[in-house]
Amino acid sequence: MSNWTVLPTFQNEPLLDYDARTSKSMKEAIHKVEAEFGKEYPIIIGGKRITTQKTIRSINPSDADETVGVTSSASTELADQAIHGAWEAFSSWKRVPFFDRAKVLLNAAQIMRQRRLELNATMVCEVGKNWQEADGDTAEAIDFLEFYAREMMRYGSQQPITPVEEEKNRLEYIPLGVGVIIPPWNFPCAILTGMTAAAIVTGNTVVLKPASDSGVIAAKVMDIFEQAGVPDGVINFLPGSGGAIGDHLVSHPLTRFINFTGSMEVGLRINTLAAVAGPGQKWIKRVSLELGGKDAILVDETADLESAADAIVASAFGFQGQKCSACSRAIIEQSVYSKIQEMVVEKAKTLTMGDARNPDHFMGPVINDRALTQMMEYIESGKSESELVLGGKDRRHLGGSFLEPTIFSRVPHRSRIAQEEIFGPILAMIQAEGFDDILEKGNDTLFGLTGSLFSEDRSRLQRACEEFHVGNLYLNRNCTGALVGVHPFGGFNMSGTDSKAGGSDYLGLFLQGKLISQQI
Ligand code: NAP
Ligand code: MG
Repeated sequence: MSNWTVLPTFQNEPLLDYDARTSKSMKEAIHKVEAEFGKEYPIIIGGKRITTQKTIRSINPSDADETVGVTSSASTELADQAIHGAWEAFSSWKRVPFFDRAKVLLNAAQIMRQRRLELNATMVCEVGKNWQEADGDTAEAIDFLEFYAREMMRYGSQQPITPVEEEKNRLEYIPLGVGVIIPPWNFPCAILTGMTAAAIVTGNTVVLKPASDSGVIAAKVMDIFEQAGVPDGVINFLPGSGGAIGDHLVSHPLTRFINFTGSMEVGLRINTLAAVAGPGQKWIKRVSLELGGKDAILVDETADLESAADAIVASAFGFQGQKCSACSRAIIEQSVYSKIQEMVVEKAKTLTMGDARNPDHFMGPVINDRALTQMMEYIESGKSESELVLGGKDRRHLGGSFLEPTIFSRVPHRSRIAQEEIFGPILAMIQAEGFDDILEKGNDTLFGLTGSLFSEDRSRLQRACEEFHVGNLYLNRNCTGALVGVHPFGGFNMSGTDSKAGGSDYLGLFLQGKLISQQI
């Protein structure tokens, strides 16, 4: 590969059709993953495998007795080693031509296609995704690799500069240095891959600290990057508890940038710590934060109620509501409120639930028992402030961390369950009086990630474009399922720094511009 023109236009990876043949292969893939349950995955620093006595057990949330795998768990000393290892590799990796770095991403995409069912099966077992959700996650990871490879061609090429006489001027985008990459567990293949790929294709080297609930899929992605030709030390794989090593990585004076996706609480802490210059630190750390949401679907009285109800159910309960883009509030005009609520409850009642390995189950478990306990607390809080109209009970008796799809009615919009991110299958239905009130309530949280409006009134759709303050606004469609390249993703307010992952500004977060002007 010598220039960007050889790459065909980016297209989203098609999703798998689980027909009889593919379903059979998927079942075999699940059995293979099960046969590897309990396997140990080491820390990798500068290509060297390091196992530690302390470990992190990754469990299957569908069956808490099953250990999907065990990763080593880094100490702060190993965190130091990883940062130093990354700096060692930086001096050579930054000099690798950008098109060769892009080629590594394309190789990784190809390997992911070959290992697709293995990756899907791993996520089904490790985080309880249903088959479709798992495939969407792998497809998105492939998309990030293909998209950022092409984007690097653009950032690496000649940049537009106004010509002047007697000077030769050029603007080059150069990497920052060593970054710390901290992804969440909920898109454990896609988000981890996207955050890491963007950082390395731009010539940086990284310390990758995966989320503790999804260490096995993370280790597999690391393996794919190595197989794809990422040199030793460019990605240093550092599983470990965020509580134990996160602050150290973030505060380290040799950390140049932090790319974090996760909760608002941890994100704000990172922002504070990163602002303080450590001893000998020469730079202002760059921090990209993609955080939580309290996303709403708004419905007015002109809307197609059937499609609005379908969108609310799909967005609220897909992957058990554990998406930053999940619909956790449905804000409905009072004249259609009862009708919509009835439709939403009826549809949600038909959702199947159980072990994610069984493809008949639309809903699997929530991520772990601790999260489920927190959700039960929110349900108690909801009961004290509003009316529970569906669900509300855990189904731990099934052997895993299962929670029924839960719907609260006529929720006061300032109550806890209407304001705080719960990150589970719990929907607050909120009544509004007229379109102004719908919009006002839609905007009245700390967050601003995704949002939808269902309306047939063009002037209201236009008003939402101007006044509904969310990073990803959807009109007459569900509020989840952003596609790389098609729907660049990132939120306003406490939802983050609006990084717009999967968009054409994203790689700029990992680069700095150097202007070179020469008199001629
Ligand atoms: P989390 O608890 O904030 O954890 C995210 C990552 O941060 C994990 O790797 C975690 O490690 C690590 N961490 C924990 N404490 C840390 C510290 N003090 N310093 C540095 N890192 C630390 O979030 P999560 O439960 O994994 O993910 C769910 C959250 O992510 C939700 O709020 C969701 O909305 C958000 N999210 C946002 C987007 C977006 O694009 N805006 C996308 C997906 C998810 P351990 O696992 O070891 O604790
Ligand atoms: Mg798990």
